[in-house]
Amino acid sequence: MEKVTVKQPTTLQEAIVYFNNPVNCRDYLVARRWPNGVTCPRCGSTNVLFLEKYNRWHCRDKHDAPQFTLKTGTIMEDSPIGLDKWLTAMWQMVNCKNGISSYEVHRAIGITQKSAWFLDHRIRLALTMGTINKLSGQIEADETFIGGKARNMHKAKRAEKITGTGGKDKTAVLGILERGGKVVTKVVSNTRKRTLQKELREKVVVGSAIFTDALKSYEGLTEFQHEVIDHAISYVEGECHTNGLENFWSLLKRGLNGTYVSVEPFHLFRYLDEAAYRFNNREFTDCERFDIAVRQIVDKRLTWKQLTGKETDDSRASPDF
Ligand SMILES: [Zn+2]
Repeated sequence: MEKVTVKQPTTLQEAIVYFNNPVNCRDYLVARRWPNGVTCPRCGSTNVLFLEKYNRWHCRDKHDAPQFTLKTGTIMEDSPIGLDKWLTAMWQMVNCKNGISSYEVHRAIGITQKSAWFLDHRIRLALTMGTINKLSGQIEADETFIGGKARNMHKAKRAEKITGTGGKDKTAVLGILERGGKVVTKVVSNTRKRTLQKELREKVVVGSAIFTDALKSYEGLTEFQHEVIDHAISYVEGECHTNGLENFWSLLKRGLNGTYVSVEPFHLFRYLDEAAYRFNNREFTDCERFDIAVRQIVDKRLTWKQLTGKETDDSRASPDF
């Protein structure tokens, strides 16, 4: 039968229509995951048979669980949620400037909010950067604090969260940006010298230029060309500024404050990964940014238990994932 070439989606509207067709989902995913032909994810054999009726493949090599689907071995493994919904949610997460909350996904694709929350976190896992080369050239480093809006908190919650020293409920994050390159973030337990400098030494090539504000924790970065911009005096002096990172922080906070409302510190790194993904791929079109994300779903797994630390024995409490 002659194959009809369908134009790949460039907008959310087109993506919804395109991925509503299971054949399109299959074509799209197979082309990216197995460009040289479908391969058994369990044994690597190409001796596989497609079972059209069941929309799955059967591996002819002898081993347990010979059948597999597009979801096998990906973030979608064991999920009963359809590929149309997965891919639509993924499109929105990588392309909406401020992210998309589980409530929006819940309403947009018709799954429970809890399922949407779990699905969103698995998409964030796909967006995580793999091992990256150390950053080099011109580097901006800056720290920020996330969360803990004590003023807007209920009295009882405020009493529980604030323990005298103040600011304890805020989570410190270090950002490192290579100009013209990528931003890397790290949730840190504090902003003391030892903590921040350890991260910088791990992630930045010796000899690089590092621009920071006047925080004492950055003093003594002698193996770098360290330049300080004292924000009490000015924000830019020639090349010395941290404006690239300020831009990232403001995008991040717009998402965290506007879209997600409250994020537990425990899960914060996942939202940082999501924001960093959009930032680091900001030069691409929506279509390309989605394509790159789809190529990252393989060999990644996040179970409900890993995410929450809870078993799913109580079926009433479990989402319908
Ligand atoms: Zn096999």
